[in-house]
Amino acid sequence: MTLRTLLHDFLALLYPEDCRACAGELAMGEEVICSHCRIKLPYTDFHTAPFDNALHPVFWGRVPVQAAGAYLKFQEKGRVQRLLHQLKYRGQEEVGEVLGRWYGALMQNQPDYKGIEVVVPVPLHKSKLKQRGYNQVAAFSRELATALSVPVAEDALQKNRNSLTQTKKDRQARWEAMQQLYSIYNKESIQGKHVLLVDDVITTGATLEACASLLLQNGASAVSIAAIAYTL
Ligand SMILES: [Zn+2]
Repeated sequence: MTLRTLLHDFLALLYPEDCRACAGELAMGEEVICSHCRIKLPYTDFHTAPFDNALHPVFWGRVPVQAAGAYLKFQEKGRVQRLLHQLKYRGQEEVGEVLGRWYGALMQNQPDYKGIEVVVPVPLHKSKLKQRGYNQVAAFSRELATALSVPVAEDALQKNRNSLTQTKKDRQARWEAMQQLYSIYNKESIQGKHVLLVDDVITTGATLEACASLLLQNGASAVSIAAIAYTL
């Protein structure tokens, strides 16, 4: 037992923490998510077939994507929604860290992820970053990178505005507006590299499409995609 776990257990005795998924009290040795929730989380098996799963077709005809995966299936009012809420709005960055560690352990054993050379989180606009204090996918991204033994390039991309300035009806105009939300910042970090692009939730795939296109236009050799959850 390390000093860190000893200290953690000692503090847990004094101030018991709650499970971020069910709000029940965490038992000794449990961290962030209780064992019951850990068993009950709606896992996908996308990592076992990253080139041929329900997520992959989302990007067909939009942007060439290598491996595509999401760790969990988002369910309205379910555990995943509560976890993401804690992560995004309650300062619980450790939710991303724990999920990243668990997902990274699965990816590590998949040959399909062996070619990845750098991990890039989808960026937040600097005003949002200041408000939240962290990018909610940063810790998740770091854990995936550690598991895959590759660096993270948190500054590869930047977000130029907080949201789309106006709703545009025309598909092409909407795509262009989406593209303009992001730009490349640290180009050297991704040039000639197979990038694992990471987001929190995949809904329409528009954010990932915009970011993946930018990475490829700026010299990334390939882009794979990973998210905490998906809602299709
Ligand atoms: Zn729980």
